[in-house]
Amino acid sequence: MRVIINRNLCGHHAASCEVCFGELLRKGGRPDGNCTLDAIDDGKEEVTAVITSGGYTTELVVTAENREEIIYDGFMKFVDLPFEAFEVPPPTGDDIRRITREYQQQTKDAKS
Ligand SMILES: [Zn+2]
Repeated sequence: MRVIINRNLCGHHAASCEVCFGELLRKGGRPDGNCTLDAIDDGKEEVTAVITSGGYTTELVVTAENREEIIYDGFMKFVDLPFEAFEVPPPTGDDIRRITREYQQQTKDAKS
């Protein structure tokens, strides 16, 4: 499963996004967090989180080994992002629409 997270969508404190993602890992199923944009079944057992935060994007593979730690400690310390990447301002309605539109465009392009 690939989980697409874009923290620019929620603008929350990183800790609250970490809790959201931890819940998703624990319960499985569809994401319902503000910054969880999509979940794509890629046929793999492990969860690959594609995390966009500020102007940065990184991937984090959740395996049986690091899963518990990610749930309890949060994903921040597992990703290779500079500190400023996590300082995301609260988005406006326009920002949210733009990010969602860009994502839909991207996935459409990928399919064609
Ligand atoms: Zn969030």
